[in-house]
Amino acid sequence: MTVKSIVLSKNQIDTLRQHSQKNSPNEACAILFGKTDNGNVIVKEVFLTKNIENSPVNFTISPEELILAYDTSERENLEVSAIFHSHPSSMAHPSTTDKKYMEINPVPWVIFSNMHDEFKAYIYDLDLVPVPVKIL
Ligand SMILES: [Zn+2]
Repeated sequence: MTVKSIVLSKNQIDTLRQHSQKNSPNEACAILFGKTDNGNVIVKEVFLTKNIENSPVNFTISPEELILAYDTSERENLEVSAIFHSHPSSMAHPSTTDKKYMEINPVPWVIFSNMHDEFKAYIYDLDLVPVPVKIL
């Protein structure tokens, strides 16, 4: 399915930005819960996670936190709508490693660049497809 946009609130954006700044110089990550409405992904909740790699160029969410995220979203009747991570010192563009995992997880990936203070989203659908980020 084509994703027309991903919609975040100003508060959710602030939470993700702060989480990214706090984890810098390492990458920060989070899972975004939401609902899909007419092709638009509406984020309802930000589930902050730990980057167990503690790396400035990669991130991994622990299996325990992933299970907790799926349980929580199910309990709240929300979908796991998007994956978030930060790029502390590069552009908000997927890395080669990101692309590999995006192929396996075909949900929108939201990337925040600390360097450019910029949010971008992409989905992997045969190739990288940009998803407009809307902030309400
Ligand atoms: Zn990345």
